[in-house]
Amino acid sequence: MIFSLLNYLTKNSENPVSAFVHPSDEYSLQKQLNLWKTPTGVGGLELIVENALDQRWTPYLEEYVTRWSDGYDSIVPLSLQIDRIEIDPTCKPSLGKLKVCNGNYGDTGWRGINIALIDDTDQFIRHSVIQFNDYYTNEVDLTPWKAIKYGDFWGQLNDESQLKYTMCHELGHGFGLPHTDENMWNRNTGECMDFTRFPRRNLSPGRRNFDRLYQLYGSVPLKRQTNLRHRVPYHRSLSQEAMAEYEKTIQNVSEDPSRMECRVDLANGNHVMIHKLPTLVGMAPLKRRR
Ligand SMILES: [Zn+2]
Repeated sequence: MIFSLLNYLTKNSENPVSAFVHPSDEYSLQKQLNLWKTPTGVGGLELIVENALDQRWTPYLEEYVTRWSDGYDSIVPLSLQIDRIEIDPTCKPSLGKLKVCNGNYGDTGWRGINIALIDDTDQFIRHSVIQFNDYYTNEVDLTPWKAIKYGDFWGQLNDESQLKYTMCHELGHGFGLPHTDENMWNRNTGECMDFTRFPRRNLSPGRRNFDRLYQLYGSVPLKRQTNLRHRVPYHRSLSQEAMAEYEKTIQNVSEDPSRMECRVDLANGNHVMIHKLPTLVGMAPLKRRR
């Protein structure tokens, strides 16, 4: 069962990699960008990040919200504020906010997922959630560096850098970023939006990511960088029916390993964009040591 994704890939593609990654293609999802609505479209993105994580994941969220907020030089596209809320593995979304959760979601084939609900009328994100699947990361081996041979290639075991990489990567999607590179067999760029078999080499948001965010949102004026006032103004709530359709859809897609990156149109004037970070090398569920 742990290699169900690999089986799927082998069956469905001459090159197992190409079933879910494009050949090196810088902004392959450019046409499907999901953006937050900002007050003026310039001046950076000011966003509330809701922390519904448990204590184990919280330090990684704090670390990477800081790193994404830092930008580089004078390019500071994000002004983020973490709101601590109740731990919520179900990750019920909050309008106009990015909510971050973890839980044991079972053998889903993904270790991290970002799900954004987009309004068809203006193409902006209504709400977005990130979930981390503890099924694959419950027993993280904190040995700093280990590698395993799987088939013809090497990959990294379940160490702490998997958690950091996954956090950094999913937050990037949460802000609207696509991948910078989707070939995990090529050279690592150092950025967490680059697919890799060796997460400890890609642990940072990179300049290309910040440049991209700058193109999308502009830069936050210096005086506002520590004073979040201009939040994403999205308060139009969904009907109960629409929420039920959303919940059913994301449950189906999140449990279907054949659908990794996808868009699903809903009947209610919205669509869902889903990014999954697959489990592959070294991400087998570890045996519990009791
Ligand atoms: Zn991704």
